[in-house]
Amino acid sequence: MFLHPIAWPEGKRCAASVTFDIDADTLVRVGRPKDAELRLQAISAGRYGPTVAVPRILETYRRLELTQTFFMPGWVMEHYPETVEAILKGGHEIGHHSWMHEDPMDHSDEKEAELFGRAMDVHIKMTGSAPLGYRAPVYSITPAILNRLIEQHFLYDSSMMADDLPYEVVTSKGSIIELPPHWGNDDWPPFAHMEELDYVMPVRSPSDGVKAFIEEYEAMYEAGGFWMPVLHPFLTGRLTRWREMERHLERVVEQGDVWFAPMKDIAEYARAQGDGLRKDSLDC
Ligand SMILES: [Zn+2]
Repeated sequence: MFLHPIAWPEGKRCAASVTFDIDADTLVRVGRPKDAELRLQAISAGRYGPTVAVPRILETYRRLELTQTFFMPGWVMEHYPETVEAILKGGHEIGHHSWMHEDPMDHSDEKEAELFGRAMDVHIKMTGSAPLGYRAPVYSITPAILNRLIEQHFLYDSSMMADDLPYEVVTSKGSIIELPPHWGNDDWPPFAHMEELDYVMPVRSPSDGVKAFIEEYEAMYEAGGFWMPVLHPFLTGRLTRWREMERHLERVVEQGDVWFAPMKDIAEYARAQGDGLRKDSLDC
Protein backbone atom coordinates (compact mmCIF):
# COMPACT_ATOMS: atom_id res chain seq x y z
CA MET A 1 0.00 0.00 0.00
CA PHE A 2 0.91 3.63 -0.38
CA LEU A 3 0.30 6.42 2.15
CA HIS A 4 -0.60 8.84 -0.66
CA PRO A 5 -1.86 6.79 -3.63
CA ILE A 6 -2.32 8.48 -7.01
CA ALA A 7 -5.28 7.65 -9.27
CA TRP A 8 -3.78 7.43 -12.76
CA PRO A 9 -5.53 8.83 -15.84
CA GLU A 10 -8.09 6.92 -17.88
CA GLY A 11 -8.47 4.37 -15.11
CA LYS A 12 -4.99 2.94 -15.76
CA ARG A 13 -3.78 0.74 -12.96
CA CYS A 14 -0.14 1.79 -12.93
CA ALA A 15 2.14 4.43 -14.50
CA ALA A 16 5.45 3.71 -16.20
CA SER A 17 8.33 5.63 -17.68
CA VAL A 18 11.39 3.80 -19.00
CA THR A 19 14.28 6.24 -18.71
CA PHE A 20 17.70 6.07 -20.32
CA ASP A 21 20.72 8.13 -19.28
CA ILE A 22 22.98 8.49 -22.32
CA ASP A 23 26.31 9.02 -20.57
CA ALA A 24 28.31 7.66 -23.54
CA ASP A 25 32.08 8.16 -23.25
CA THR A 26 31.88 10.96 -20.65
CA LEU A 27 32.37 8.41 -17.85
CA VAL A 28 35.93 7.48 -18.76
CA ARG A 29 36.79 11.01 -19.94
CA VAL A 30 35.79 12.50 -16.59
CA GLY A 31 36.98 9.53 -14.51
CA ARG A 32 40.42 9.33 -16.13
CA PRO A 33 41.10 12.86 -17.43
CA LYS A 34 44.89 12.38 -17.71
CA ASP A 35 44.87 9.61 -20.27
CA ALA A 36 41.26 8.95 -21.31
CA GLU A 37 42.18 9.41 -24.97
CA LEU A 38 44.36 6.29 -24.76
CA ARG A 39 41.62 4.13 -23.27
CA LEU A 40 39.86 3.10 -26.45
CA GLN A 41 38.15 0.08 -24.92
CA ALA A 42 36.26 2.22 -22.41
CA ILE A 43 35.62 5.01 -24.91
CA SER A 44 34.25 2.58 -27.48
CA ALA A 45 32.03 0.86 -24.89
CA GLY A 46 30.56 4.27 -24.10
CA ARG A 47 30.15 5.23 -27.77
CA TYR A 48 28.09 2.07 -28.30
CA GLY A 49 25.25 3.77 -26.39
CA PRO A 50 24.31 6.70 -28.63
CA THR A 51 25.40 5.07 -31.91
CA VAL A 52 24.18 1.45 -31.72
CA ALA A 53 21.91 1.01 -28.69
CA VAL A 54 19.76 4.14 -28.98
CA PRO A 55 18.59 3.36 -32.55
CA ARG A 56 17.65 -0.15 -31.33
CA ILE A 57 15.69 1.24 -28.38
CA LEU A 58 13.98 3.85 -30.57
CA GLU A 59 12.89 1.14 -32.98
CA THR A 60 11.21 -0.77 -30.12
CA TYR A 61 9.47 2.39 -28.95
CA ARG A 62 8.30 3.10 -32.51
CA ARG A 63 6.91 -0.41 -32.86
CA LEU A 64 5.16 -0.36 -29.47
CA GLU A 65 4.08 3.28 -29.94
CA LEU A 66 5.76 4.45 -26.75
CA THR A 67 6.98 7.98 -26.08
CA GLN A 68 9.63 8.03 -23.36
CA THR A 69 12.46 10.09 -21.81
CA PHE A 70 16.22 10.22 -22.30
CA PHE A 71 18.61 12.19 -20.10
CA MET A 72 21.71 13.54 -21.85
CA PRO A 73 24.74 15.53 -20.72
CA GLY A 74 25.19 18.64 -22.87
CA TRP A 75 28.59 17.40 -24.04
CA VAL A 76 27.02 14.16 -25.30
CA MET A 77 24.33 16.10 -27.17
CA GLU A 78 26.99 18.19 -28.90
CA HIS A 79 29.11 15.16 -29.83
CA TYR A 80 26.21 12.96 -30.99
CA PRO A 81 23.85 15.33 -32.84
CA GLU A 82 22.32 12.49 -34.89
CA THR A 83 21.27 10.75 -31.67
CA VAL A 84 19.55 13.93 -30.48
CA GLU A 85 17.86 14.28 -33.85
CA ALA A 86 16.60 10.66 -33.83
CA ILE A 87 15.24 10.98 -30.28
CA LEU A 88 13.41 14.20 -31.10
CA LYS A 89 12.09 12.76 -34.35
CA GLY A 90 10.49 9.93 -32.35
CA GLY A 91 8.71 12.53 -30.20
CA HIS A 92 10.66 11.65 -27.05
CA GLU A 93 11.77 13.94 -24.26
CA ILE A 94 15.38 14.88 -23.48
CA GLY A 95 16.17 15.87 -19.89
CA HIS A 96 19.14 17.74 -18.42
CA HIS A 97 21.89 15.43 -17.16
CA SER A 98 24.78 17.85 -16.42
CA TRP A 99 27.44 19.11 -18.79
CA MET A 100 29.83 16.14 -18.96
CA HIS A 101 28.64 13.85 -16.19
CA GLU A 102 30.90 15.46 -13.60
CA ASP A 103 29.88 14.46 -10.05
CA PRO A 104 28.57 17.72 -8.48
CA MET A 105 30.24 16.65 -5.20
CA ASP A 106 33.66 16.98 -6.85
CA HIS A 107 33.57 20.75 -7.48
CA SER A 108 32.20 24.03 -6.08
CA ASP A 109 28.62 25.29 -6.46
CA GLU A 110 29.97 28.12 -8.64
CA LYS A 111 31.63 25.67 -11.00
CA GLU A 112 28.47 23.55 -11.04
CA ALA A 113 26.36 26.60 -11.93
CA GLU A 114 28.64 27.33 -14.88
CA LEU A 115 28.54 23.73 -16.16
CA PHE A 116 24.78 23.55 -15.65
CA GLY A 117 24.32 26.73 -17.70
CA ARG A 118 26.55 25.44 -20.48
CA ALA A 119 24.36 22.34 -20.78
CA MET A 120 21.19 24.49 -20.72
CA ASP A 121 22.49 26.47 -23.69
CA VAL A 122 23.07 23.27 -25.68
CA HIS A 123 19.57 21.98 -24.86
CA ILE A 124 17.94 25.19 -26.00
CA LYS A 125 20.07 25.38 -29.14
CA MET A 126 19.53 21.74 -30.16
CA THR A 127 15.95 21.05 -29.04
CA GLY A 128 14.44 24.52 -29.36
CA SER A 129 13.36 24.72 -25.73
CA ALA A 130 14.61 24.48 -22.15
CA PRO A 131 14.45 21.01 -20.58
CA LEU A 132 11.65 20.39 -18.07
CA GLY A 133 13.42 17.67 -16.12
CA TYR A 134 16.78 16.97 -14.52
CA ARG A 135 18.65 13.95 -13.20
CA ALA A 136 21.99 14.45 -11.43
CA PRO A 137 25.02 12.34 -12.40
CA VAL A 138 25.12 9.39 -9.96
CA TYR A 139 22.03 11.00 -8.35
CA SER A 140 24.39 13.49 -6.63
CA ILE A 141 21.95 16.36 -6.38
CA THR A 142 22.94 19.13 -3.93
CA PRO A 143 20.84 21.84 -2.21
CA ALA A 144 22.29 24.42 -4.63
CA ILE A 145 21.29 22.39 -7.68
CA LEU A 146 17.82 21.70 -6.26
CA ASN A 147 17.19 25.41 -5.71
CA ARG A 148 18.61 26.25 -9.14
CA LEU A 149 16.08 23.85 -10.71
CA ILE A 150 13.26 25.55 -8.82
CA GLU A 151 14.47 29.05 -9.73
CA GLN A 152 14.80 28.09 -13.38
CA HIS A 153 11.24 26.68 -13.40
CA PHE A 154 12.08 23.04 -13.97
CA LEU A 155 8.96 20.88 -13.64
CA TYR A 156 10.67 17.89 -12.09
CA ASP A 157 13.83 16.29 -10.75
CA SER A 158 14.64 12.58 -10.77
CA SER A 159 17.57 12.16 -8.35
CA MET A 160 16.10 11.82 -4.84
CA MET A 161 14.62 8.78 -3.14
CA ALA A 162 12.20 9.77 -0.35
CA ASP A 163 9.17 7.91 -1.72
CA ASP A 164 7.99 5.17 -4.11
CA LEU A 165 5.61 7.51 -5.91
CA PRO A 166 6.02 11.00 -7.39
CA TYR A 167 6.06 13.60 -4.58
CA GLU A 168 6.65 17.31 -4.13
CA VAL A 169 9.92 18.61 -2.71
CA VAL A 170 9.55 21.95 -0.92
CA THR A 171 12.47 24.28 -0.18
CA SER A 172 12.84 27.97 0.77
CA LYS A 173 12.81 28.79 -2.96
CA GLY A 174 9.57 27.00 -3.85
CA SER A 175 8.85 23.45 -4.92
CA ILE A 176 9.45 20.87 -7.62
CA ILE A 177 8.02 17.46 -8.45
CA GLU A 178 10.32 14.53 -7.66
CA LEU A 179 10.06 11.34 -9.75
CA PRO A 180 12.12 9.13 -7.47
CA PRO A 181 14.69 6.62 -8.73
CA HIS A 182 16.34 3.94 -6.59
CA TRP A 183 19.14 1.47 -7.05
CA GLY A 184 16.86 -1.57 -7.42
CA ASN A 185 15.61 -0.16 -10.71
CA ASP A 186 19.05 0.94 -11.97
CA ASP A 187 21.07 -1.17 -14.41
CA TRP A 188 24.46 -0.12 -13.06
CA PRO A 189 24.52 -2.76 -10.28
CA PRO A 190 23.66 -5.82 -12.45
CA PHE A 191 25.33 -4.89 -15.73
CA ALA A 192 28.21 -2.41 -15.31
CA HIS A 193 31.84 -3.44 -15.11
CA MET A 194 34.41 -0.66 -15.59
CA GLU A 195 37.92 -1.12 -14.37
CA GLU A 196 38.69 2.46 -15.40
CA LEU A 197 36.30 3.69 -12.71
CA ASP A 198 37.41 1.05 -10.19
CA TYR A 199 33.97 -0.51 -10.58
CA VAL A 200 34.69 -4.20 -10.94
CA MET A 201 31.59 -6.26 -10.30
CA PRO A 202 30.34 -9.66 -11.46
CA VAL A 203 28.09 -9.06 -14.47
CA ARG A 204 24.68 -10.73 -14.20
CA SER A 205 23.06 -12.68 -17.01
CA PRO A 206 20.59 -10.66 -19.09
CA SER A 207 17.53 -12.49 -17.76
CA ASP A 208 18.78 -12.27 -14.17
CA GLY A 209 19.51 -8.55 -14.36
CA VAL A 210 16.26 -7.63 -16.09
CA LYS A 211 14.31 -9.88 -13.70
CA ALA A 212 14.99 -7.38 -10.93
CA PHE A 213 13.34 -4.60 -12.96
CA ILE A 214 10.40 -6.89 -13.75
CA GLU A 215 9.89 -7.65 -10.07
CA GLU A 216 9.92 -3.92 -9.40
CA TYR A 217 7.28 -3.55 -12.10
CA GLU A 218 5.11 -6.33 -10.69
CA ALA A 219 5.05 -4.78 -7.22
CA MET A 220 4.23 -1.35 -8.66
CA TYR A 221 1.51 -2.82 -10.85
CA GLU A 222 -0.11 -4.60 -7.92
CA ALA A 223 -0.01 -1.50 -5.74
CA GLY A 224 -1.03 0.98 -8.47
CA GLY A 225 2.34 2.73 -8.40
CA PHE A 226 4.89 4.17 -10.79
CA TRP A 227 7.56 2.02 -12.45
CA MET A 228 10.64 3.89 -13.59
CA PRO A 229 13.71 1.89 -14.59
CA VAL A 230 16.91 3.96 -14.81
CA LEU A 231 18.85 2.41 -17.67
CA HIS A 232 21.92 3.20 -19.76
CA PRO A 233 22.05 2.42 -23.49
CA PHE A 234 25.62 1.10 -23.27
CA LEU A 235 24.46 -1.41 -20.62
CA THR A 236 20.81 -2.41 -21.16
CA GLY A 237 20.82 -1.43 -24.85
CA ARG A 238 23.11 -4.41 -25.58
CA LEU A 239 21.36 -6.98 -27.78
CA THR A 240 20.60 -9.72 -25.27
CA ARG A 241 19.65 -7.44 -22.40
CA TRP A 242 17.39 -5.30 -24.55
CA ARG A 243 15.73 -8.44 -25.89
CA GLU A 244 14.71 -9.28 -22.29
CA MET A 245 13.45 -5.76 -21.65
CA GLU A 246 11.70 -5.61 -24.99
CA ARG A 247 9.78 -8.83 -24.29
CA HIS A 248 8.68 -7.45 -20.95
CA LEU A 249 7.55 -4.16 -22.52
CA GLU A 250 5.63 -6.07 -25.20
CA ARG A 251 3.76 -8.01 -22.50
CA VAL A 252 2.92 -4.90 -20.51
CA VAL A 253 1.80 -2.90 -23.54
CA GLU A 254 -0.33 -5.84 -24.65
CA GLN A 255 -2.03 -5.88 -21.24
CA GLY A 256 -3.23 -2.33 -21.96
CA ASP A 257 -3.80 -1.05 -18.41
CA VAL A 258 -0.46 0.66 -17.77
CA TRP A 259 0.02 4.36 -18.52
CA PHE A 260 3.35 4.71 -20.34
CA ALA A 261 4.33 8.36 -20.64
CA PRO A 262 7.43 10.52 -20.81
CA MET A 263 8.57 11.87 -17.45
CA LYS A 264 7.27 15.37 -18.14
CA ASP A 265 3.72 14.05 -18.53
CA ILE A 266 3.96 11.99 -15.34
CA ALA A 267 5.32 15.06 -13.49
CA GLU A 268 2.62 17.31 -14.89
CA TYR A 269 -0.06 14.83 -13.81
CA ALA A 270 1.52 14.61 -10.36
CA ARG A 271 1.64 18.42 -10.10
CA ALA A 272 -2.08 18.55 -10.94
CA GLN A 273 -2.84 16.40 -7.86
CA GLY A 274 -2.30 19.53 -5.74
CA ASP A 275 -2.77 18.82 -2.05
CA GLY A 276 -3.26 15.13 -2.79
CA LEU A 277 0.44 14.80 -3.48
CA ARG A 278 2.84 14.00 -0.66
CA LYS A 279 5.11 16.89 0.30
CA ASP A 280 8.66 16.53 1.57
CA SER A 281 10.10 19.75 3.02
CA LEU A 282 13.86 20.23 2.96
CA ASP A 283 15.74 22.78 5.01
CA CYS A 284 17.53 24.49 2.16
ZN1 LIG B 1 24.37 9.31 -15.99
